Amino acid sequence: MIKPRTTFVLYIIVLILVYLFLPWKGIFFTLLTVLFLAHLVYCSVNICSQAYIKTFCKRDTQEKKIAITFDDGPDSEITPKVLEILDEFAVKATFFCIGNQIERNRDILKALDSKGHLIGNHSYSHEFWFDLYPANKMQEDIKKTNGLIFETIGKKTKLFRPPYGVTNPSLKKAIKDLGFNTIGWSIRSLDTVSKTEKTIQRIKKKLSPGDMILFHDNREQIILILKEFIDYTKSEGYEIVPLDELLNIQAYE
Ligand SMILES: [Zn+2]
Repeated sequence: MIKPRTTFVLYIIVLILVYLFLPWKGIFFTLLTVLFLAHLVYCSVNICSQAYIKTFCKRDTQEKKIAITFDDGPDSEITPKVLEILDEFAVKATFFCIGNQIERNRDILKALDSKGHLIGNHSYSHEFWFDLYPANKMQEDIKKTNGLIFETIGKKTKLFRPPYGVTNPSLKKAIKDLGFNTIGWSIRSLDTVSKTEKTIQRIKKKLSPGDMILFHDNREQIILILKEFIDYTKSEGYEIVPLDELLNIQAYE
């Protein structure tokens, strides 16, 4: 992936060349600007672009090992049901929790931890405008969630997943000194927007060794999706392992 800084330099050089040598300058200027802005947007919204932050998205392996992750909980209703299914199949997962959800559901966080699942930070507010926060406000928000996780389970998580999977220069600055392993995904289940059957088919089609799958534990449909997904992985000979094992990284300090 070409870094935004490199494309900015190229953008300026080409602008100068266009200005010096080409007619129809206005059209070329507009076109170049649109391309440059599109590149910036792509770098930000694609968590695996690596443009701003080194992100773990998949393990490069031939072994049929994968990891599953859940965002946006803990949810008072759905997370316990998810936990039950994971227990039933003896599968360990990673939960990227939102701080304000932890405040309402501390017991559920404790249960997740005591059952051997990993806990990651997914910001405190998960606000729609989070990506436009200045770096210090982002850092405050993220640190608050780390504090809540520590207060509740006594562990300092090193796993972080940006809200909405968006990375940008402010986030880079915000997490610079926090020592996180930033976690993306290789398969986005789209479980919040697609119909259940479509979601399942989509994942089955894409699944390959080393994958990291993104689910959400705050929507009812995850129950059906999860059961069928785990059944499928077992029938195909996949092993679902904890994220730290798949990536060979530390989950906690
Ligand atoms: Zn989220």
